[in-house]
Amino acid sequence: MAQLLLGQTLSFTANPWHAPIADAVNHERRGAVLVENGYIRAVGNADDLRAKHPDAKVTDHGDSLIMAGFIDAHAHYSQTAIIASWGKRLIDWLNTYTFPEETRFADREYADQVAKTYLDLNLSNGITTACAYCTIHPESVDAYFEAAQKRGLRMLGGKVMMDRNAPDELRDTAQSGYDDSKALLRKWHNVDRLSYVITPRFAPTSTETQLEATGALWAEFPDCLMQTHLSEQAEEIAWVQDLFPDQQDYLAVYEHFGLTGPGAVLGHSIYLSDREWDAVKASGSSLAHCPTSNAFIGSGLFNAKRAHEMHIPTGLATDIGGGSSFSMLRTMASAYEIGQLRGDALHPAQLLWMATQGSADALLVGNKIGNLVVGREGDIVVINLASTPVIEQRVARAENFWEVVFPTIMLGDDRAIEAVYVNGQPVG
Ligand SMILES: [Zn+2]
Repeated sequence: MAQLLLGQTLSFTANPWHAPIADAVNHERRGAVLVENGYIRAVGNADDLRAKHPDAKVTDHGDSLIMAGFIDAHAHYSQTAIIASWGKRLIDWLNTYTFPEETRFADREYADQVAKTYLDLNLSNGITTACAYCTIHPESVDAYFEAAQKRGLRMLGGKVMMDRNAPDELRDTAQSGYDDSKALLRKWHNVDRLSYVITPRFAPTSTETQLEATGALWAEFPDCLMQTHLSEQAEEIAWVQDLFPDQQDYLAVYEHFGLTGPGAVLGHSIYLSDREWDAVKASGSSLAHCPTSNAFIGSGLFNAKRAHEMHIPTGLATDIGGGSSFSMLRTMASAYEIGQLRGDALHPAQLLWMATQGSADALLVGNKIGNLVVGREGDIVVINLASTPVIEQRVARAENFWEVVFPTIMLGDDRAIEAVYVNGQPVG
């Protein structure tokens, strides 16, 4: 049966990084979204749509804001339990917290339990799609996709490949990494709303043989995404130079093994040289901006303005558990703060774009999800714009719509998430 959701609605008519905000955003003060059979069938004025669809079941969300569900372009579901671990930088953070935790995912029951917690936390924060790293264990991938499938979610992810510079129990081999990834890809890719992502962790934890096998696998299955990390911290970049002395820079390692191009999602990408920026652009690769992680692990300030000026598809990401929040509102606030530290005041519309359509474009699903427009899948978040006393008193002083929205971006969290719809169905 058709459902009509009433509230304030926000949809994009253009990219607010490239068009004036007033031309890029369509805001209906009293709007409506018609959802049927999992798809958005109409978006418009509440009175108009009620008159046109008198038989639809009406859910009135009052003054709350209805928009596309949030999309997390880069996360590690297996690090859910170690979020907020104190005091390390990237490489000792991996060795101290991440690797010991990831060894536990050989146990399917444990993987099931974390996958469930991870998806519940995503949904309570309005995240309806994520692109996640699992662990090296095929069990971790099965647990993730089975839990996502059960919830009807559009989710992406894949088995991490690592054949060096990791503990014995967390290493595969070039051959087994290739074989296991291929078997999982065949099992899960394009099943329901699930997509397999070829996932070499990052250059330092793969031998040249493994990177070569990974490039070969991606060439065999070019409609899959490929995700990895790039240029997150100075120590890491120096390490890559030591490990790959023949390559001129970090990105060149991935280029050499065929791991750039449309569908390559490169996490972090903070310290790119001019050559690397140009090569990312020329290759058609995507970037994932992980602001809370970059602040929390002390990595640095991603240049979101440059990425957008160059028209590089760029998504917003929690990077759980290097990232310090499951909230995409907190993540947008962090992106704003990082922009400020660079001298760039990102507009709330630009932040919301990155968290929805920007991420969808970066993950090559921009025609399916990411915006409240006819024909998209019915993944929707409803946001209470006065969810706490401090937000409420600030909104009372607001002089325009963006002054109503921005306090929730800066101060909101899961308490602001009033309702979530997945594939047109209300969650919980
Ligand atoms: Zn990451």
